Amino acid sequence: MHNRRRIYEGKAKILFEGPEPGTYIQFFKDNATAFNAKKHAVIDGKGVLNNRISEYIFIQLKRFGLPTHFIKRMNMREQLIRSLEMIPLEVVVRNIVAGSLSKRLGLEEGMTLPRSIIEFYYKKDELDDPIVSEEHITTFGWASPQELEDIISLANRMNDFLSGLFLGVGIKLVDFKIEFGRLWEEEIMCIVVADEFSPDSARLWDITTNKKLDKDLFRQDMGGLIEAYQEVARRLGIINENEIFRAKGPVLVK
Ligand code: UDP
Repeated sequence: MHNRRRIYEGKAKILFEGPEPGTYIQFFKDNATAFNAKKHAVIDGKGVLNNRISEYIFIQLKRFGLPTHFIKRMNMREQLIRSLEMIPLEVVVRNIVAGSLSKRLGLEEGMTLPRSIIEFYYKKDELDDPIVSEEHITTFGWASPQELEDIISLANRMNDFLSGLFLGVGIKLVDFKIEFGRLWEEEIMCIVVADEFSPDSARLWDITTNKKLDKDLFRQDMGGLIEAYQEVARRLGIINENEIFRAKGPVLVK
């Protein structure tokens, strides 16, 4: 790490001021949290893998034509990004029933949805990020109706593109969480994809065995998290067969 000013520290990432105005540096930590940080561990090498996986996905999103905050990866754990005015929402896109959707509505995990679903959660740790409707979002001014329309369109395009990308490497994109922000250029503002895309924030299942290749391995104490993240990186062609990241296994932090 370096002497740059720390802008914000989250559960799995730290944001530092960037080398030029309008830029930040996003640092990927090894910390893993679940159930709104009630469960916490440090998993050696996770940050390095997430940095690489997220870099790869954001480059593909750009090639597909979606605007993002990503500029470039700088080193093993850091990427240079554009600073945005963040929209205080976690946007979850779902293709298959899992996690909180399964619990909330009593649905069996693994059911393919007849159409993909977008959900919004208001980012407020003290409130455990409650689910909110489009009306809450526009009424309380978290995003304007036009911004919300842009967010939905970007989330759907991202989901269609990434579902295909993962299918191509034998992985089902079950669901994912993404965030958006406002990018100002001169007088013009546009909504862009922000945050990260990694197995920390998406559910990825092997297409034939349904083996989980994501953070549910940690949430459910199943072990093998680093190996699973490496498997995702290998299938995407980001790391080669022989590249192994240091993995001592999860260490519980009280
Ligand atoms: N997710 C996330 N951060 C959160 C909550 C959810 O990245 O604070 C991701 C999660 O990894 C999954 C998707 O969003 O891929 C949907 O999560 P869900 O609502 O099922 O909640 P969870 O089961 O994680 O409590």
